[in-house]
Amino acid sequence: MIIAIDGPAGSGKSTIADELARRFGFTKLDTGAMYRTVAHVSASRGVDLDDEGAVGDVARALDIRFEKRPDRMHVLADGVDVTREIRTPATDRIVSKVSAYPSVREAMLGCQRAFAAGRDVVAEGRDIGTVVFPDAELKVFLTADPAERARRRVLQRHPEGAPDADALAREVEETLADLRRRDELDAQRACAPLRAADDAVRIDSTTHSIDEIVERIGALADARRDA
Ligand code: C5P
Repeated sequence: MIIAIDGPAGSGKSTIADELARRFGFTKLDTGAMYRTVAHVSASRGVDLDDEGAVGDVARALDIRFEKRPDRMHVLADGVDVTREIRTPATDRIVSKVSAYPSVREAMLGCQRAFAAGRDVVAEGRDIGTVVFPDAELKVFLTADPAERARRRVLQRHPEGAPDADALAREVEETLADLRRRDELDAQRACAPLRAADDAVRIDSTTHSIDEIVERIGALADARRDA
């Protein structure tokens, strides 16, 4: 079975996909991590990010693996651990440019479908229900108010406790600007834009807890499994 979860940055996809995967014993596929890895590796090798051909060559040749370790899921690029590097603001700034290239998307599409072959998967991204797994048994399109998405992202970055109110407000403001910019690039691109599949269940997470949403999606998945 495939559960597809799409939606804009910070809508809660990753946390919800983790929890669903744990409950159902499915494997999670974080497709955003794959685009982040291509962006980070291209930049760190000094590849010109305006050169689609060169970035596409990196994407096609790159071996991206996920490795479950006690602390979290790690991402390896050609054997090198890039888990931290792909979540930096520097990678946030370049990932949507790289992910808009059709050659990069084509390379990732092959890897994503190969990853899911013969497994039960919760896949999260922007084009899972529309392009990657159009026949997924359950498709969810998750949204949330942009200010709430930015606030959640910032709090996630500070597991040790939020910074003081002024610093928090500044960081939320900057994060909001980045999320808006990325959402616009992701939604406007010609190839596999961020879009809800016609048969996706739309869920707004602004005023619901992660637990409530996991419950709701879990019930939908149970119903589809039994159908
Ligand atoms: O999900 P996350 O925020 O980590 O994704 C990072 C970026 O990767 C997105 O802003 C988008 O540009 C790209 N992406 C994509 N298609 C996907 C998943 C992510 O284009 N299926």
